[in-house]
Amino acid sequence: MTYVIALPCVDVKDRACVDECPVDCIYEGNRSLYIQPDECVDCGACEPVCPVEAIFYEDDLPDQWADYYKANVEFFDDLGSPGGAAKMGVIDKDHPLIEALPPQNTGE
Ligand code: SF4
Ligand code: SF4
Repeated sequence: MTYVIALPCVDVKDRACVDECPVDCIYEGNRSLYIQPDECVDCGACEPVCPVEAIFYEDDLPDQWADYYKANVEFFDDLGSPGGAAKMGVIDKDHPLIEALPPQNTGE
């Protein structure tokens, strides 16, 4: 099982969750962050600090954001398990689901 980052993170990316993760498994793409499902230890530390409530335990993901499970998993299809986000910096891509979104959270 894993935690998942859903739509509310897109174009927000304040990285509050990154500081809480004991295993450094929250990776940054261009428009969203993504949790590496094999590295996540399900500790739950990231979930309450997200200011936009974007983080959910896999089983608690709201139906309308069910696809974000796949988005988090598939983001790592070519990356595998890098073993730590800090050394990766911003990864120059997003999952196609997120790439296709219009600008989010513009405050309008
Ligand atoms: S649940 Fe824990 S291990 Fe998983 S991403 Fe959140 S802080 Fe990291
Ligand atoms: S705390 Fe929430 S909004 Fe901020 S980077 Fe993490 S998932 Fe995205």
